[in-house]
Amino acid sequence: MLENIELLRKAVEVEIKYSYIDIQGKKSTFSKFVKSELLKEYKKTKAQKWQVLIEAMERYSVENLPARRKILNRLCKVIKDDINPKPENAEIKNIKLANECDVTYIKGVGPKVGYLLNKLNIFTAEDLLYFFPKNHIDYSSRTFIKDIKEGETTTIFGYIKSSSAFVSKSNLGIIKVTVADESGNIELDFFQAKANRYVLERTKAQFPLNAKIMVSGTVKFNKFNMHLTVDKPTYSILNDDTQESTNLNIGRIVPVYPLVENLSIKTLRRAVFNALEMYKQSIKTVVPDYIRNKYNIMEKFDAIRQMHFPSSMDMLHQARFSLAFEEFFISQLRLAKLKELNKQINNSVHFTVKPDGLVMNFIKSLPFKLTHAQMNAVNEILNDMQSQEPMHRLLQGDVGSGKTVVAAIMLLSAVENGYQGAIMAPTEILAQQHYNTLVNMLAPLGISIGLFIGSLNKKEKKLQETNLFNGQTKIAVGTHALIQENVQFNNLGAVVVDEQHRFGVKQRSILSKKGEAPQILTMTATPIPRTLALSIHGDMDLTIIDELPKGRKPILTSISNSKKQIYSLIKEEIKKGHQAYIVYPLIDESEALSAKAATTEYENLKTNVFPELKIGLLHGKLKNAEKESVMNDFKNGKFDILVSTTVVEVGVDVPNATVMVIENAERFGLSQLHQLRGRVGRSDVQSYCVLSSSSRSDDAKARLGIMAETNDGFVIAERDLALRGPGEFLGVRQSGLPDMIVADIVKDTKIFEEARYEAIEFVKNNKFEQYPELKTVENLRKNNFEMLAD
Ligand code: ADP
Ligand code: MG
Repeated sequence: MLENIELLRKAVEVEIKYSYIDIQGKKSTFSKFVKSELLKEYKKTKAQKWQVLIEAMERYSVENLPARRKILNRLCKVIKDDINPKPENAEIKNIKLANECDVTYIKGVGPKVGYLLNKLNIFTAEDLLYFFPKNHIDYSSRTFIKDIKEGETTTIFGYIKSSSAFVSKSNLGIIKVTVADESGNIELDFFQAKANRYVLERTKAQFPLNAKIMVSGTVKFNKFNMHLTVDKPTYSILNDDTQESTNLNIGRIVPVYPLVENLSIKTLRRAVFNALEMYKQSIKTVVPDYIRNKYNIMEKFDAIRQMHFPSSMDMLHQARFSLAFEEFFISQLRLAKLKELNKQINNSVHFTVKPDGLVMNFIKSLPFKLTHAQMNAVNEILNDMQSQEPMHRLLQGDVGSGKTVVAAIMLLSAVENGYQGAIMAPTEILAQQHYNTLVNMLAPLGISIGLFIGSLNKKEKKLQETNLFNGQTKIAVGTHALIQENVQFNNLGAVVVDEQHRFGVKQRSILSKKGEAPQILTMTATPIPRTLALSIHGDMDLTIIDELPKGRKPILTSISNSKKQIYSLIKEEIKKGHQAYIVYPLIDESEALSAKAATTEYENLKTNVFPELKIGLLHGKLKNAEKESVMNDFKNGKFDILVSTTVVEVGVDVPNATVMVIENAERFGLSQLHQLRGRVGRSDVQSYCVLSSSSRSDDAKARLGIMAETNDGFVIAERDLALRGPGEFLGVRQSGLPDMIVADIVKDTKIFEEARYEAIEFVKNNKFEQYPELKTVENLRKNNFEMLAD
């Protein structure tokens, strides 16, 4: 029995909570820790079940999300069975459930093949059923011999006209078979290594004269006789009663699966076929009939079978559509249900905006006109605020799109109705900046604003707290400091959470609990393509500001590896009175190391390159107050150049800065590059971004090329997502991605929209009564994690 079972249980729990990111513990990663624990046990027992898991842990960190889920599922089951051995016939009972039946119980899969399948993360019958082919070869349509073409995959039906066999000098057995159909003849060669006369005759006997035969393969040109033939042909001698099951490899559209050494594709095809036979009756269709009829969605079992052994390419397409639809439908159904529950709370404070009240006067007093996108966002938000249903809206807008004004309007609508508002930002720099902006905009209207950050001294803190509590402060701006216990509001009515992904659900909810039932708006400047946003935040409404204020000049972006060029651009801009950023990437994922690199460069620039200029240094190792003062000095023009690590990334606003140089740009994700670039171009003066990179990889060049091509954060996000896939795109910070096997969040947007629409309608019309099995939809893929816990 495992020694540290409690520790293991904890580790698994945490890993699942963080959505399988192979979480870094104090001493090692999750997978390394588990592996070392399992090794101890394996050394004692030598049981294969542990070996399988050890191998699985070795590949865990490079596997995708569904595979990681399967591995952990298996881990839990094995541990559980190890603690509580089951009576012998219990396994037999479980065979009925595809997700509990061990793959070795499937006909054609014994312990040996089972072990090989485990290497492919196939542990249960269900895993095998969902182990879909990576592609198919179409051997299904018959070609007449006279019509075959070099290079095409083909299937011929004919009869055996003649055959002969001989052994070559190098002991290679060669059997020549001539096959004929109505249209002509073709000669095929079958080879046999290390043949002797006896073996050869036996093989030749497999091609009886006049027998019907089907041959599949790729047509090639035979240099020796100058005729077309079939390369490495697969064949089957046909009896009149030949059935589907005997031809899994030929004369049809055949599935091609990823394999591991010693596992033959034929064995795998046979195993899948047998699993399908076994669960024919027990796989339930999930999507309601009325929806299936509308979109031509197959019964679930048929879809799974067609995915493996399609009767035509059209059916394969339809099967894929059917399963993708189901995956989207189920995940959206869950979110739609959450959203509905949220609506039913129905007790939020609600606000009205009067024609010449605070909000309207503020909008009129702005020195600029709101863009259409801003107007639209304001309308949606104010509409939400009028309702008692609590607002649950995510505002997405590219850097510089003007989200702050929109947030200010929301907060003001609370103030207009006699309530307080709060805005929470992830860093002190940002909080301070919001504070300054709001004071500039709102102080003239007589609205007092409070600041809540960790670096205030005791006396200042006390004063802020008192003013907030007695209601004199109308709007509170701050960091996490806002959610401290002694920060109490008089009557909090509206909450804005900026850069929401940097906060946990818990932190957001602590803030909102400081009021009775405040309205909540969350914001992000990291554009996420719509499908992805709705897959993760589908329980929220989504507002997108996809338009920049007029008059902004697009930032000119170039890729360069010439220091000379870069330095002369900086000099020129500074001569015009502007400022520049130079940013260094995270080195080895460590802020300490990159701080060091930035410091070295800073010294170098100061003494050797720009001795006549004033240069500031900003990195994550500085104390908050120091960071703050460097940032402020840069903002106030005390520095010409700011050398920085990525701490400068989010939201910092210095309109006079017109150059952004990003060193080793290839090390950044596109979305992050876009964020950094957004630090310039914040006025009507021309700004520049230089991506400094000496990388020669085509991939890096292509990625940086996208940055030079467009300034549109949403376009960049789409491209980034397509390049890196949703998991990497979101990174570890934002989990909660539904784990899809068939559906592709990037490519299947149309299916996504249809499934989402149907899920929302389903919930709206409360169809759960009619389809009670969907009520427990979250548990459809029940797994072993809870089992381990109980
Ligand atoms: P972000 O969405 O990145 O938070 P901000 O709210 O900081 O953007 O806005 C960027 C700048 O644009 C600010 O200086 C702001 O005053 C200005 N701004 C916002 N809306 C408009 C507008 N409609 N027209 C002109 N300038 C605007
Ligand atoms: Mg902002």
